[in-house]
Amino acid sequence: MRIESPHPIPLPRWGEGRVRGMKFIVDRMLGKLAKGLRMLGYDTVYYRGEGTYPLIKMAREESRVILTRNSKLIPKRPEDRIHRIMEDKPSLQLKELIQKKVISLNEKTLFSRCLLCNIFLNEITREEAEGKVPDFIFFQQKTFFRCPQCLKIYWQGSHQDHMLKRIEQLKNFG
Ligand SMILES: [Zn+2]
Repeated sequence: MRIESPHPIPLPRWGEGRVRGMKFIVDRMLGKLAKGLRMLGYDTVYYRGEGTYPLIKMAREESRVILTRNSKLIPKRPEDRIHRIMEDKPSLQLKELIQKKVISLNEKTLFSRCLLCNIFLNEITREEAEGKVPDFIFFQQKTFFRCPQCLKIYWQGSHQDHMLKRIEQLKNFG
């Protein structure tokens, strides 16, 4: 069992667009949805374990909304917030959450988190990025961001095409 959990880090300079408020924990059926939520800026833990008790426990401790496909998972205490995802296809699950007004699409918060680590990216200088990204990217881009945990460097357009297409589709929705 492995649990990804956010680490406290100093606030980066471009904090204006951070999503505050709703935090999520998704179960093992919803890994792609976790990445999609992080892409939109939502603090989302991907719980890969089998048992439901640790999932509920973590959700309670960190005030997270549980997202699940499991119809047997039901709230047992007043503080339990469980939202059942009806859509089977990952590409439709984000839309479902927007439609049901659980989340909203905010341009400012897009791409503020590492998709793998769920923590905020820090802006870095061009000098820091030099040699660590392909040359043509370095000369093309003005701004770079780095995940403080896995050290992956992001730039505008570094997210895979299908992620950007998904955002385009979601815009027509929200
Ligand atoms: Zn990372």
